[in-house]
Amino acid sequence: MQTKKILQDYTKEELSRMITPSFRAKQIYSWVYHKYVEHFEQMKNLPQQMREQLSEAFTLMPLKILMVQDSIDGSRKYLFELHDGHTVEVVLLLMRDKEYHEDGSVKHQERYTVCISSQVGCKVGCAFCLTAKGGFMRDLSAGEIVEQVRQVKMDNGIDANRRVNLVFMGMGEPLDNLSAVAKSVQIFADEEGMAIATHRQTISTSGLSSKIKKLGEMDLGINLAISLHAVDDALRETLMPINKAYNIQSIIDAVNAFPVNSRKRVMFEYLVIRNVNDDITAAKKLLSLLDGIKAKVNLIYFNPYGGTEFERPEEKDMVAFQEYLVKRGLLCTIRESKGLDISAACGQLREQERGEAV
Ligand code: SAH
Ligand code: SF4
Repeated sequence: MQTKKILQDYTKEELSRMITPSFRAKQIYSWVYHKYVEHFEQMKNLPQQMREQLSEAFTLMPLKILMVQDSIDGSRKYLFELHDGHTVEVVLLLMRDKEYHEDGSVKHQERYTVCISSQVGCKVGCAFCLTAKGGFMRDLSAGEIVEQVRQVKMDNGIDANRRVNLVFMGMGEPLDNLSAVAKSVQIFADEEGMAIATHRQTISTSGLSSKIKKLGEMDLGINLAISLHAVDDALRETLMPINKAYNIQSIIDAVNAFPVNSRKRVMFEYLVIRNVNDDITAAKKLLSLLDGIKAKVNLIYFNPYGGTEFERPEEKDMVAFQEYLVKRGLLCTIRESKGLDISAACGQLREQERGEAV
């Protein structure tokens, strides 16, 4: 069992109160988040005695890479081991955007997005989700969340200055671990650390309405994504038992109270499952449900795994659903099946490692 504190658990301000002289906190942040050091010994501008004291009190490597899987589409999936032997998944997604310039030239730009986990397992228990099948083990600390991104950047040689986006769409329900998640958002955003602006971070939730309100009051500037997946309470309850405690209307009310940057929208994720929620009647209801909300809809193909009763929707139904919404003025995209060949829906790599059928 680990007795040392995790350095990445602390904001720069906290760290500067924990060490003397306090200005060293800034230097430590730079070593950790810009120069990607693994040992305090490498922090050359710190006095030797301080390096020793720090390495006695803190660990810099609370996670270990256990498995890596590459997908043909460029996404890379990691299984990390925590100090107590639990494992979590992280996915690095690489998008190649085309940028059109005034002179007619086209520049290809690579954009990184890291999909991170907030808990080991999940309490919410959605019927379609593999993470839920393993039950809930524990919350991650802020540092364990922060370290997922640092190690993915280290492992891929992604320069500290390269822009990355973060999505809390890995394992766990971020709002069920709100204090650690909110703290990690702030640590990520530190200008002298990873400098990932809060508008580049997205928290995805199954819809804990009371916590959406709380998150809104924190006014962090993050983007909000709601995993809606169904437009009537009866169906949503069978897919997501949390709907019994927080029904669809309560989520809509919480979203309406959420502070959204004037250029941004709230994303509604809609996991499309064949013959369950893929009909046009659902699209129609979705349209009226989101009426008046600055929303965008992201349709997600259900990603099947061994033992599930659910099926991937047909492409034609997916497209018809999207067209119905788009023609009526609702922004709607279909999420590419990034990393489908490496089972990118979170929870799947972990199950594989545990030797169960995927
Ligand atoms: N707990 C949060 C964030 C993690 S899940 C939430 O539910 O929003 C991230 C997304 O993956 C959710 O929208 C979830 O519905 C989706 N997901 C879960 N299982 C999936 C599967 N088998 N195929 C595709 N997406 C899945
Ligand atoms: Fe938890 Fe999200 Fe999976 Fe539901 S979909 S069980 S909330 S991780």
